[in-house]
Amino acid sequence: MAEWQNVIRKRDFPVIARGTCDGRGVVYLDNAATTQCPRPVLWALEDYWNQHANVHRGVYCLSSRATAAMEETRQLAAEFLGASSEEIVFTSGATDALNLLADAFAMGELRPGDLVLATELEHNSNLLPWLEACRRSGARLEPVRVTEDGELDLEDLERKLERKPKLLAVTAVSNVLGTVNPLEKIAEMARGADCAVAVDAAQAMRHGLPDVKTLDCDFLCFSGHKLMGPTGVGVLYGKARWLDRLPPVRYGGGMVESFSLSEPEYASGVRKFEAGTPNLSGIAGLGAALEYLQAVGRRRIAAYEKELLHYAEERLSAVAGLRILGAPARRAGVLSFVMEPLQAYDVALLLDKKGFALRSGRHCADLLHARLGLTGSVRLSPAFYNTREEIDRLGEALEEIAEVARKAGIPMGERTHG
Ligand code: PMP
Repeated sequence: MAEWQNVIRKRDFPVIARGTCDGRGVVYLDNAATTQCPRPVLWALEDYWNQHANVHRGVYCLSSRATAAMEETRQLAAEFLGASSEEIVFTSGATDALNLLADAFAMGELRPGDLVLATELEHNSNLLPWLEACRRSGARLEPVRVTEDGELDLEDLERKLERKPKLLAVTAVSNVLGTVNPLEKIAEMARGADCAVAVDAAQAMRHGLPDVKTLDCDFLCFSGHKLMGPTGVGVLYGKARWLDRLPPVRYGGGMVESFSLSEPEYASGVRKFEAGTPNLSGIAGLGAALEYLQAVGRRRIAAYEKELLHYAEERLSAVAGLRILGAPARRAGVLSFVMEPLQAYDVALLLDKKGFALRSGRHCADLLHARLGLTGSVRLSPAFYNTREEIDRLGEALEEIAEVARKAGIPMGERTHG
């Protein structure tokens, strides 16, 4: 692990360096929900607010500076994804991006009887917008099945693609099982059926996601706050020809080329989708986060986190009475488990008492939990400021919890995996 010391960089993240919350020690392991911001992001936010001005609308220096900073982040996001800056729409996050896209599809693409596919692995943010878009347009949403191991069932996908769906909504990485979907293969299958592919990369951005040109997906989105950036900012990538073709779905300042009451002419490209004042400080923070990740090294971060997750899987597998969910061929970022018959909520609460921040519940993946026959799970999601030593301590804390439960006469399950 010594070679990784430069990746870990706890000191860059104030709350991680402090390791306390309200005076109590805490190991933060809920990075799939949100990641901490490193100091350069905090500086960028302060810098922005110290010279605050609106974009596009002013000829003066402060406004030009704000516009330039926003376009710089757009360029950085484009480079991060391997796209061009004309394909990057700023949104308030992944949920907002997916709603924008689904609204545009409902308005411009979907017709009664059309089919939209979404996988059983999806977060509600990549299901509900499509469900509502289908309701409004008379189209139908169908789920693509996952296997017992938590892999996407490619045979089911193939069968459903024969029915010529208009769009497939698919996550790059499951926010519950950590399943890394074979996106290149999926996109190729969808292309063969003339089906657009919308990738939810909210959980995938630190894990070596292939660039969008290699993936050849039509759309992709992510949130800044899961990528060491601030909340309230995200990105929707869309192929330029799609952004030209889709109608705007929000109207207001900045997105109209020429105003008329009878026939307003809307701006082309990304501007068409960015009505109103963008989250400028968020965009500045996102830019700083992308630069920070580049500086630390995206490959090194992905490799470190992969190693750490693998270590966690081994360590937690050794906890008697704990069952890790799913056994996908490739897992990234996230590991969920249950300790039946204890409730996930109770396990997370007991972990909090021992100084570990992990999430419990359905993680907004209701369809997947129903598929797994579970009412909830506990989710571990380490980042590159976490260490093996913290995972060891977590393993010990879970062993203590199981032991106390056993002593209280609760019949804890024996060691299982899968
Ligand atoms: N998709 C996935 C896979 C997620 O994990 C999340 C966040 N939990 C979202 C979408 C939504 O992201 P946000 O809340 O930042 O819009």
